[in-house]
Amino acid sequence: MGFDVKNTTKVGLLDLFCPHICRGCGALGSVFCECCKKYMLERQQNVCPICKQKVEKGEEKCRECEIPFRRFYVGSYREGALAKMIREYKYQSVRAIEQVLLELLFKAVPEDLGVEAERIVVVPLPTIGKHVRQRGLDHTKILAKKLAKRRGWQCEMVLERAADTVQVGTSAAERAKQAEQAYRVARKIDVEKTYLLLDDVWTTGASMLAAAKTMQEAGVENLVGVILATGKPLEE
Ligand SMILES: [Zn+2]
Ligand SMILES: [Zn+2]
Repeated sequence: MGFDVKNTTKVGLLDLFCPHICRGCGALGSVFCECCKKYMLERQQNVCPICKQKVEKGEEKCRECEIPFRRFYVGSYREGALAKMIREYKYQSVRAIEQVLLELLFKAVPEDLGVEAERIVVVPLPTIGKHVRQRGLDHTKILAKKLAKRRGWQCEMVLERAADTVQVGTSAAERAKQAEQAYRVARKIDVEKTYLLLDDVWTTGASMLAAAKTMQEAGVENLVGVILATGKPLEE
């Protein structure tokens, strides 16, 4: 391979002024060229957000780690071109990046989740209202809607923020406590349905875990987790 998708040093400030430079290799023309995209999608493999190890093909989640989801799917590690694209999509609302992230999501989430399509509900993790207003778009909601549409699944805003504030706690314990109280269920839960909770990144996992707990306490039995990216393994 004559290029490396991890190498993002070539593309820097220029991107702000010229959005159609490949975030992977710097080639002119699109936000992520066909070559880099093919490379990323071919390498896509599910990883565990907790231990960061690759999940065996055909397995629904890591066997070693405890996670309150029946299945858990991760697009990739949050590094290189992908980290850059998520950041730009999220904070600068570069819409051209949306399609690339969606393709990664389509690759990461199996079409067959073992239940009928009519019984699958995609639930975006709610973004803080202030952030949506600042950024001009609710990226998680858009990704959730488009994933649902593509698969013939439902998309519902099952969760809402109980307190529409930013996490301000300084200690990990304080943050975890705040995260736990952050969500509430805003729709009627159907225990027959499979709920697919979606967020963009897993940093500490506090938000996803808190949302999962809230949904399970409200009666959700079959919960699937999906994120675009998680932090990379420590030694690498
Ligand atoms: Zn490229
Ligand atoms: Zn694991």
